[in-house]
Amino acid sequence: MYVESKKGKTRELWRFHGGLHLPEKKALSLQHPLQHATLPDRLILPLQQHIGVPAQPMVSLGEQVLKGQMIASSPAPVTSPVHASTSGTVVEMGEHFIPHPSGLTDLCIVIEPDGEDRWADLPKPISDFRSADTQALRQRIRDAGIVGMGGATFPAAIKLNPGKPIQTLIINGAECEPYITCDDRLMRDFAERIMNGARILQHMLQSEECLIAIEDNKSEAILAMFEALRDEENIEVVRIPTIYPSGGEKQLIRILTGREVPTSGLPAQVGVICHNVATAAAIADAVLEGKPLISRLVTLTGEGLSKAGNFEVPLGILASDLIAQAGGYQGQPQQLIMGGPMMGFDLTTDQVPITKGANCLLCPTAEEIPRPEPARACIRCGRCADVCPANLLPQQMYWYSKAKDLEKVQDYNLFDCIECGCCSHVCPSHIPLVQYYRYAKAESWAQEQERRESERAKQRHDFRVSRLKRLEAERKAKLRKKKEALKNKPPAKKTQVSKEGDDKDAKQAVIEAAMKRAADKKAKQQLAPKNTENLTAAQQAQIEAVDKRRMATTQEKQQKSEQPD
Ligand code: SF4
Ligand code: SF4
Repeated sequence: MYVESKKGKTRELWRFHGGLHLPEKKALSLQHPLQHATLPDRLILPLQQHIGVPAQPMVSLGEQVLKGQMIASSPAPVTSPVHASTSGTVVEMGEHFIPHPSGLTDLCIVIEPDGEDRWADLPKPISDFRSADTQALRQRIRDAGIVGMGGATFPAAIKLNPGKPIQTLIINGAECEPYITCDDRLMRDFAERIMNGARILQHMLQSEECLIAIEDNKSEAILAMFEALRDEENIEVVRIPTIYPSGGEKQLIRILTGREVPTSGLPAQVGVICHNVATAAAIADAVLEGKPLISRLVTLTGEGLSKAGNFEVPLGILASDLIAQAGGYQGQPQQLIMGGPMMGFDLTTDQVPITKGANCLLCPTAEEIPRPEPARACIRCGRCADVCPANLLPQQMYWYSKAKDLEKVQDYNLFDCIECGCCSHVCPSHIPLVQYYRYAKAESWAQEQERRESERAKQRHDFRVSRLKRLEAERKAKLRKKKEALKNKPPAKKTQVSKEGDDKDAKQAVIEAAMKRAADKKAKQQLAPKNTENLTAAQQAQIEAVDKRRMATTQEKQQKSEQPD
């Protein structure tokens, strides 16, 4: 099949296996122009709105924050920061319901807007992006918290470092799922922003071509994008047939290039990178204006809502606040779905915030989307395999998922399943096939996580044991060295003897020598009486008197000592 993709240029298109023609139901939300949600009383911003490691809070309770200020981040390679969607006060940091099929809570930062909507200082615009360093552009996109806004929520900056030459950049504007129209609205109203994003991405990836793919049921969007094209550019707007799920990454690559992404492989392996139109617009805002990702377009639709439409909303607004602003519920809404009717999931409450990947809130009535009938046994009709766009064997995957044989179900390429829901949609036995695959994937991930954890624990244990062994060996070697050093020491000189006996002898000799010197001195003093020459008669008489008294005292002492006791 050939289509005109640029003035005077045609392009060959391919078909992917399976797929469905579904009722579009898009008019409901396209009947009104884009509306802007007003700021609610509280914004609830989950720390994980992306695939990867959750961001960590950078603010504290009671802190004043400004619009666009980074309030959570992580140094991990696969992560994405979170920014304040308006100025206000951090009034809470805690668990809140998040939009997730599990219906569980997660850690969120709650901001009470001050109504001033004051911007923080933003990074400088990089207007001349073609002269800018690619690494600096990637860092800007990472710091702006941009993730895949088509629902994948994978950090966009990582996809921009493929490590392989890229021939084709695809900007995905297919928006193939029924009811959802936010990308259509974005292309109609903000074609220039998307085109700027495409130019930045093409420059960064140095791709030979850039294809903006749009389903042929969006003629206004196609026209708007054609008008935003400049003649000199190597960018094409490609009209593709409306068939579900043409917006699936692998399916779109097949349609546009004829290339097949290998099982468990990535598009970069076949020289292709895909980004959603909303992601491209957010990249343009970050690079050309320095603005982080703090808002997005969301489709509100379904006959259970009094007014359907597309809204530009601050991230963190509660679904309940947004629905109230759109006029509230009407009739008998039977469920609230985050996403579309095929790939979306039921919300257990409307008290969940709009996050970066939330493109649609669908509230159908029971007549509009009837609840599925009770499941019956598989009749092996094979219809599920006929429509599977990933060319899988859904029936076999169902059997092994049901039997909890996770190894076997993975042998059937479980992880190539894009959860498009085509198989469940056509199953005459009403088997909720996708739910089985989701369960099998979650269990496989949990087992893999467990295996990695125990591997890490074993590595930590082995490392500790080897460290202790090394320390012991080092200690022993040190001791041995010391002993050898002592053994090899030459014998000490006598004067330096260290033996106890020798020490004693030396000390004794010193003492005896000192005593001898003292005795000699005394004897000398006795032998040499002083001042005995040239005495006067008086002096001589005094001496004789003293000698006499001494003699008398000595004799008296002698007599006393000779007397018996
Ligand atoms: S479509 Fe349903 S009934 Fe038919 S083979 Fe598949 S699972 Fe079985
Ligand atoms: S949900 Fe998975 S198995 Fe079913 S049709 Fe889609 S890709 Fe195939």
